[in-house]
Amino acid sequence: MKRINLLGSTGSIGEQTLDVARARGYRIESLAAFSNVDLIERQIREFKPEYAALADEKAAADLKARVADLPVKVLSGLEGVSVCGAEAKGDITLNSVVGMAGLKPTLDAVNAGKTIALANKETLVAGGKLVTDLAEKKKVKILPVDSEHSAIFQCLLGAPENKALKRIILTASGGPFFGKTKEELKKVTLADALKHPNWSMGQKITIDSATMFNKGLELIEAVWLFDMAPENIDIVVHRESIIHSLVEYTDNSVIAQLGHPDMRLPIQFAITYPERFESPERQLDLWEIGTLTFYKPDYETFPCMDICRNAIAKGGLLPAAVNCANEEANLLFRQGKISFCDIPELINAASAYAKDCENYTLQEVLETDVLMREKVREIASV
Ligand code: NAD
Ligand code: MG
Repeated sequence: MKRINLLGSTGSIGEQTLDVARARGYRIESLAAFSNVDLIERQIREFKPEYAALADEKAAADLKARVADLPVKVLSGLEGVSVCGAEAKGDITLNSVVGMAGLKPTLDAVNAGKTIALANKETLVAGGKLVTDLAEKKKVKILPVDSEHSAIFQCLLGAPENKALKRIILTASGGPFFGKTKEELKKVTLADALKHPNWSMGQKITIDSATMFNKGLELIEAVWLFDMAPENIDIVVHRESIIHSLVEYTDNSVIAQLGHPDMRLPIQFAITYPERFESPERQLDLWEIGTLTFYKPDYETFPCMDICRNAIAKGGLLPAAVNCANEEANLLFRQGKISFCDIPELINAASAYAKDCENYTLQEVLETDVLMREKVREIASV
């Protein structure tokens, strides 16, 4: 039986992971989240983990009182989240925390030798070198949960050590604003941006999908997961989200992975790899879909893809800087304090202040986070 430590349990991926665990009878050893006391209490009563944590101290104190009748150890703060990922008895730590708050818990779980099922892409974007170096040293596997990366991972199974790999092609739905002009984007509202055509996800990633910053994050994520140069990663807009991504070999043979847009399949495969089992995903009958369409991305109207591509090409702390600036700008947009088109401008302006260095420490990534959030707020005058 699989044993799982689950970080970010109250979110969209967290809840779908628990769906998979329910269907397949997996043991949940720990549950961690930010502050949703009601939901995590219900999850604790159903899955009876040994550890639970809420990053928010007040919420954690409330939770502790509410589950005093159970043997669960309730922890608090980011330290408590880390204990849930690293010290609980799961063989796999599935990290579905949103944002770079997930970086330290990922590093701690890798250090403890846990296999990592990674949904938290900001971890790899902000600290790619730290995570991959440590994973190599500890001989720990990092298995992708993100649907595009799971697709690439599946397309590469059986490949001769990636030697003949020429190109990775990430598919993008294009989000709610596909086909819009720069002028039209100036008038979009938060409610417009939250209407994703194909996926139901947390709010931060839904806004990242509207700006296409999400695809930029995924490009950087692919660089680290598949050791691929950024110039060999292409993006194609595919409105139907049926092809989850593709790989191209040196002989120009292209291999794709297809399925309905349902995150429970990549979540399950990250847990059961290399084995496959029945899943909640519906069978794909292509005649029901009929047509699959493809477009070149509009890089001018959606500059966030190139912001990320340039950041990873330059390397050092720049990917962390653009990620953290985006986290703050994304939040300000959700709070109604800036407009949609301010997001890329703020990321560019703030990331110009990032420290220039090739190698970095976790401390420097965390300092970059603080600096970028300050700069974004200062430049936006909020
Ligand atoms: P969400 O907002 O629905 O959930 C986020 C979870 O993280 C919540 O449980 C929240 O409590 C927790 N959290 C936030 N800050 C925390 C902290 N400091 N400590 C501990 N827990 C904290 O987000 P989501 O849509 O589930 O996305 C989670 C991650 O997975 C993101 O990195 C996202 O990019 C990635 N992802 C999501 C999807 C999707 O379909 N939702 C697909 C691919 C990748
Ligand atoms: Mg994705």
